[in-house]
Amino acid sequence: MSTTEQRVAVVTGAARGIGAATAVRLAAEGRAVAVIDLDEAACKDTVEQITAAGGRALAVGCDVSDEAQVQAAIDRIAAELGAPTILVNNAGVLRDNLLFKMSASDWDTVMNVHLRGAFLMSRAVQKHMVDAKFGRIVNLSSSSALGNRGQVNYAAAKAGLQGLTKTLAKELGKFGVTANSVAPGFIATDMTAATAERVGMGFDDFQAAAATQIPVQRVGTPDDIANAIAFFTGDAAGFVSGQVLYVAGGPLN
Ligand code: NAP
Repeated sequence: MSTTEQRVAVVTGAARGIGAATAVRLAAEGRAVAVIDLDEAACKDTVEQITAAGGRALAVGCDVSDEAQVQAAIDRIAAELGAPTILVNNAGVLRDNLLFKMSASDWDTVMNVHLRGAFLMSRAVQKHMVDAKFGRIVNLSSSSALGNRGQVNYAAAKAGLQGLTKTLAKELGKFGVTANSVAPGFIATDMTAATAERVGMGFDDFQAAAATQIPVQRVGTPDDIANAIAFFTGDAAGFVSGQVLYVAGGPLN
């Protein structure tokens, strides 16, 4: 890559929350950003934020768990923005329930979006990274990977993403590609707002209660996570690979 060529980043689940903050942050770092989400129209706000600040962005509708859609999305991004060499696997869903009440379809949905989605996206993008002899993959894990009541599906998927990350790091390292995992604690987004609603609490009270359990005494913001992702995706992080960084306002047990 010449020094003037712009690196192209793909961020999944980037219509809102952590993904949107990450897309905006990576654009501010000088990347052209493909903003992927289920509904292309829902990506408009993120794309407009980037272009209003002078950046380049492309909205792409894609279900990350669908093999054909993933390949078509990456082909389109390569044609319209340039070959992608940065990938942030962020798209996620919750289907929380205690084990005895969890349906097989709720298990499958969570596995498909988080694990199958990260696998399909990484496989589709790696060709461009290997060709460029440069790549950065970041997979969104979670503090729930350590085990969390009511999240047997999500905890397993998020722990699985850590194994996926370490294996990608080992397989792709010789091509200049690093893979790391960022594992957030409690971050204020629509996802945690939905959890508050499910347990019958107002979101402000839910956040205040969570903050009392966090050493820094506040919940996280999407920008807290985007900052960590910006580090791992940067050119300067080429010797940092196969790591899991918990970004949770304190250590986790
Ligand atoms: P969010 O606000 O719910 O945003 C997730 C985005 O992913 C949504 O825009 C959603 O689209 C999209 N998405 C869902 N399924 C998809 C699919 N099959 N293909 C493409 N896009 C899809 O979530 P968030 O809180 O920002 O979380 C982002 C990531 O961080 C997730 O992987 C989550 O598990 C992880 N995380 C979050 C927290 C937290 O406290 N918030 C903590 C630890 C880890 P729709 O709106 O159309 O469904």
